Amino acid sequence: MQQDLLVTFAIIWLGLSVGSYMLFQRGADVERKRKLWPAYTIFSNVVIGAVIVYMQPPLPMMLGLLAFMVPLTWLTIRGTKFCAACGRATRAPFFMKPAGKCSHCQKPFQY
Ligand SMILES: [Zn+2]
Repeated sequence: MQQDLLVTFAIIWLGLSVGSYMLFQRGADVERKRKLWPAYTIFSNVVIGAVIVYMQPPLPMMLGLLAFMVPLTWLTIRGTKFCAACGRATRAPFFMKPAGKCSHCQKPFQY
């Protein structure tokens, strides 16, 4: 039973990785990428949160980790920009300011 759950998480995680590649690395539909990115990020962090809860760490540690994930999720959403010119993603590390220009074609972001 426990192993089944871990396998389920692994499959979901694999699906998320493949989905991320298909949705955000390929194609040039920037509007769709911008719309889907927050939902995708929140969902994948909910999965991580579920794994943490499932691992049943000591309660203070669990609450600390979950509390830490909320700003981290927000910063991940904020730190990723999709270029209107080339459609590719530019990621800034979550502890830094969002990038001001595309890391691929150097065009400044308008938003
Ligand atoms: Zn670009």
